[in-house]
Amino acid sequence: AKEQGRNRIVTYNQHMNKEARMRLWLEIELQKALQNNGLEVWYQPKVNAKDYTINGAEALVRWKHPVEGYISPGRFIPVAERSGMIELLGRNVMREVFQTVRRWQNMKVLPGRVAINLSPQQFRNPNLTSHMKKLQAATQTDPSLITFELTESAVMNDGEHAIQMLNAIKELGFSLSIDDFGTGYSSLSYLAKFPLDEIKIDRAFICDMETFPKQVTLIENIINLGRSLNMSVVAEGVESGKQASVLANLKCDTIQGFHFYKPMPREEFEALLINNRKA
Ligand code: C2E
Ligand code: CA
Ligand code: CA
Ligand code: CA
Repeated sequence: AKEQGRNRIVTYNQHMNKEARMRLWLEIELQKALQNNGLEVWYQPKVNAKDYTINGAEALVRWKHPVEGYISPGRFIPVAERSGMIELLGRNVMREVFQTVRRWQNMKVLPGRVAINLSPQQFRNPNLTSHMKKLQAATQTDPSLITFELTESAVMNDGEHAIQMLNAIKELGFSLSIDDFGTGYSSLSYLAKFPLDEIKIDRAFICDMETFPKQVTLIENIINLGRSLNMSVVAEGVESGKQASVLANLKCDTIQGFHFYKPMPREEFEALLINNRKA
């Protein structure tokens, strides 16, 4: 038994080393990618739940490693957060989106609001709003065309700071969305205190819809909660027509998911927008 125990410890340590090595590798490679402009921003269109026309988009960072191919943001965003690289990464994403929105304003192909994800680390940086302001002034982008998505944990961690920060972002003319709604175990009281424009119902609720009928009741109540607070409601991760029609019946405003569109490179989205304008 002792022998077995020792073996277990050895395996565990090897596992840890592998994890640590992987993290380090990711960190080094991500640093290189950031220096060489190796990251891209893709866009996932969102649609109106009633007629399925495009009414917005979410910007999602993409990293194509020269050898490993695409590495998911679910893997490298946490690494970027821990190492502080999220600052530069986030600024690059923001710049790209502001420039793109400005471009679409000029081309008259705007898809509605474009959302940018903000990680908790970015949200905690006191220079965030001055950076937003500078970028907006430099690109002359209409701020009402940009939404910032924040998770519950980011805004809940530090209540006072969060309210000030959110108000400052709103004062610049941007919109605010609460991402992955329902996954945090936080109280709901912040919904009334914070100047939020939108709730995004987490994908986990949507994908269980058909298996657990009570999940639909829950979704209905989240939608009603949002509407009663004058917030628009987005459902993310919609993968079937059935889910989309149930959500439309529940008066969900906007739908995002693979059933309609997957995230795509800017050029591809732009071609779609130009085509839609002609139609
Ligand atoms: P998120 O903000 O919840 O973004 C939605 C994620 O769901 C995206 O994954 C998107 O590709 C995926 N998705 C959309 N529709 C469907 C669907 O119908 N089914 C399924 N299974 N998935 C769907 P992605 O692009 O891999 O991003 C993962 C997470 O990484 C994001 O979750 C966000 O937290 C973070 N992230 C992505 N881009 C950025 C960024 O530019 N900045 C920051 N700070 N975080 C980002
Ligand atoms: Ca998001
Ligand atoms: Ca989300
Ligand atoms: Ca998420």
